Amino acid sequence: MLGGGATIGNMIGEAAIAGGSDLDLRSAEMECFLANKTNSSSNNNNNPGHRSRISARERAAVFKDFHEAEGKLFCTSCNIILDHTRRSTITDHLKSKKHLKRKVEYEARRENRKQRMPTPSVEHQTGAQEVKRELAYEFLRMFLEASLPLEKADHPSVRGFLMHHVNDASSIPPSDQLCRIYFPSVYDSEKRLLKTVTLAGKKIALIVDESWDADYRFILNVLAAPLEKDVAGRIRPYLLDTIFLKSIDHGIVARSVVTVISEYNIAFENVYFFTTDNAAYMKKAFSAGLKVLLPNCIHITRLTHVLDLIMGQLQSPFQLTTTFMSIFRKLPSKRKGRYLDHLRQCNPAMRASVPPDPFAGGWSSYFRAAVYHRDHVKHQAAFLQKEMDQGFACETMERLWVGIIIIKL
Ligand SMILES: [Zn+2]
Repeated sequence: MLGGGATIGNMIGEAAIAGGSDLDLRSAEMECFLANKTNSSSNNNNNPGHRSRISARERAAVFKDFHEAEGKLFCTSCNIILDHTRRSTITDHLKSKKHLKRKVEYEARRENRKQRMPTPSVEHQTGAQEVKRELAYEFLRMFLEASLPLEKADHPSVRGFLMHHVNDASSIPPSDQLCRIYFPSVYDSEKRLLKTVTLAGKKIALIVDESWDADYRFILNVLAAPLEKDVAGRIRPYLLDTIFLKSIDHGIVARSVVTVISEYNIAFENVYFFTTDNAAYMKKAFSAGLKVLLPNCIHITRLTHVLDLIMGQLQSPFQLTTTFMSIFRKLPSKRKGRYLDHLRQCNPAMRASVPPDPFAGGWSSYFRAAVYHRDHVKHQAAFLQKEMDQGFACETMERLWVGIIIIKL
């Protein structure tokens, strides 16, 4: 991605746009486009799917969200190449959710850069410097989106790869500089994106929970989940703020919540759920304050506790499965090793793994483990048979064997 023409081309385009001299260039291009348009057949222009002979540069002159590099039309915000010969491709892209999201993000980044570097010397920095900065931003963003620890950017293998395959790799700073200089700007742009796109005008659920940091200070985490599925089909919560407090009571909770939702321009009537634990001050924060301000909101306490209770009830008819899963976890490590070898022999294409812990925490771990055993029970039966044939029987094995027989019945 980093070494590709799209990224570098995009950076060059952004640099040109940011450089300030683009206006003259654009008006010249506009004239050129108009001249061509006048000469071309007017019939063709009425057809949205028509493949025109117009160049990428001419398209870029008309649509300000795009730029041209090496004869190709790039969307400046999305960093992708579009078919410049079809006007409909461009107009469809401009209306797409992905583009609108990326555009806000891109504008926020440019705005941040302007605010952070107001000195004339920086304003007049060369396009090449701008390209290098953009590379560092893109690199950091990739790490954050993939949830990679930033210190991995300093790993010799990562550095070696970058030096060999990425132009200007030396301009990607080490992790401490990425964190200190570049990270605040990316954080600001993500925050702006949340405000202006992700949460804007949507019905939301607030999730508020307290905890402690290493110095035993109270931390109040305020999250919001838009009540609609994202592109991956999931309801996704976003951390709006982490507030450090000397003490905590219902007034502080209510004030903190109001401050945070106001900062994100969330309309009071768009908050539908206030989800917390069962603490008395959380209940009072809602009943004595937030309830009045948030007219459509209901308070849900101990949601995870309720889920745990429901899931506990769902597990109770399946005692044998639960016992089987928990005994299987207790197999000694040597035997687990032989079990993995057995799985590899059964199916070399499958990735052999030991069963997940059904009680690792959270109700979903039980279901993950149950699904694993459902998919492996045939191999487990053969493994137990083999072990006992080789004289490795023990009480645990016998209990498992009985379990397998009953399950198979
Ligand atoms: Zn785009």
